[in-house]
Amino acid sequence: MARPARENGRVNAPRPRDRVKIPRQHPAEAHPEGRRSTFDEVSGGLDERTALVEASRCLECRDPVCTRGCPVGVDVRGFIRHVVRGELAAAAERIREANALPAVCGRVCPQESQCEAECTLGRRFAPVAIGLLERYVADWEAAHRPVWERPFARTRGPRVAVVGSGPAGITCAAELARKGYAVTVFEALHALGGVLRYGIPEFRLPKHVLDRELRLLDALGVERRTNFLVGRTATLDELMGEWGFQAVFLATGAGTPLFLGIPGETLAGVLSANEFLTRVNLMAAHRFPEHDTPVVAPRAVAVIGGGNTALDAVRTARRLGAERALLVYRRSRAEMPARAEEVRHAEEEGVEFLFLTSPVRVLGDAEGMVAGLECQEMTLGDPDRSGRRQPIPVPGSGRVIEVQAVIEAIGQKPNPIVQATTPGLLTGRHGVVAVDAEQATSRPRVFAGGDLSRGGATVILAMRDGRRAAAAIDRALSAAAAAE
Ligand code: FAD
Ligand code: SF4
Repeated sequence: MARPARENGRVNAPRPRDRVKIPRQHPAEAHPEGRRSTFDEVSGGLDERTALVEASRCLECRDPVCTRGCPVGVDVRGFIRHVVRGELAAAAERIREANALPAVCGRVCPQESQCEAECTLGRRFAPVAIGLLERYVADWEAAHRPVWERPFARTRGPRVAVVGSGPAGITCAAELARKGYAVTVFEALHALGGVLRYGIPEFRLPKHVLDRELRLLDALGVERRTNFLVGRTATLDELMGEWGFQAVFLATGAGTPLFLGIPGETLAGVLSANEFLTRVNLMAAHRFPEHDTPVVAPRAVAVIGGGNTALDAVRTARRLGAERALLVYRRSRAEMPARAEEVRHAEEEGVEFLFLTSPVRVLGDAEGMVAGLECQEMTLGDPDRSGRRQPIPVPGSGRVIEVQAVIEAIGQKPNPIVQATTPGLLTGRHGVVAVDAEQATSRPRVFAGGDLSRGGATVILAMRDGRRAAAAIDRALSAAAAAE
């Protein structure tokens, strides 16, 4: 196999025709048997050798289509070229030009449907493992040259409020602080991070990695106001009035779960994935009674849904000791929106997948506890508005699965509090805030993005909105200053 060789500190990258012969590198992973009972991170990432080999697979295309597949436009070819040359600090700089959360994105982005889906190499061979390389560079940077230990100019420009501290809010705050604005992040919970903190479990995204990334905000002089619920502690109008903020970016996410509306949903033991994961992530419920919050730990559990949230919930249930952890999804495997890696990991951990199966009714026992889930089989019809084939019930196919808990992960909508307390803020279906191409809302100098304006999407799309909003806020406030 052709491998890159280092000579006198320089790297001799293989010739292009040899590069395609190098197999895609894989990270070390915790063994499925062992990891079922721990919340330790599953993927160990690439090491120095495998990262160099993987980077040397890149064809350095004249037209780097991979960047087009990245919603924030990371210069993929550029940073990989630095990795091949052993210039890891430069590689990190290159990524950070477009991405304030590279260690997060390297772990949770659905690369297979974004940058890696576009990769030229992927047309005939396995695409370059762009996400793993991004993670490698970000982790190297944290260990050797932390971005937050560098001096940043702390200019005190106009004041901007960022409401919500998920990936959209973090990105917008970082971009604006770099441009010299005085940014304050308002967060309802006690800690920053949004879904990255309370939704995605430790075994996929360790909290110390998130905390590390957040230190960039401190280095940039961003002020944190936690335990601050905008709409209650202060309204948006108060922030823009007596508090003196000249622009606001709303990024309060979509934290209100949707339910199926089937009979039996009020039984004890039915809960949303959101609540289940929050209890474990934020309140360490898996360590009850050492920590105050209990969590349902059933023998058999059915999780309903096919996205990342459903996968996280079912894998968490397995780690809490469920002997049978079932994922009930009404379409087939091909339509699952979850990341391919999560599906593979769940399978390895013994999660059972019930495809083309839809819940009809939750059954209870005499004490009002969940005792089973009645389901029916589905078949796939024509594509619906989302482009996915629509599930259609198969008559007479009902069956009952014995479970003691049902966790629903079928989608979410925004929390309505900011919308309800902000006159003139236009909203759409499920209270999603309406925005234009620059993330501007119907209210002057109020911008919005992330799940609040999308109704549930991905980390990187939320980050793209945060970047766009920061650029639009800068334009709006610069124009206002010039007009004075
Ligand atoms: P959020 O991350 O939801 O952050 C919003 C923040 O605003 C929260 O901290 C909230 O407390 C705060 N807030 C709400 N209301 C107020 C208020 N009134 N005042 C002050 N603060 C407020 N995407 C991926 O790309 N890959 C994945 O692997 C992935 N896995 C996921 C797993 C789970 C369990 C879930 C739920 C989602 C997952 N997603 C994943 C989706 C992704 O996490 C979201 O799309 C993304 O976090 C949205 O970012 P955001 O900044 O818009 O909002
Ligand atoms: Fe490298 Fe693939 Fe991007 Fe080409 S498309 S530059 S091979 S990562």
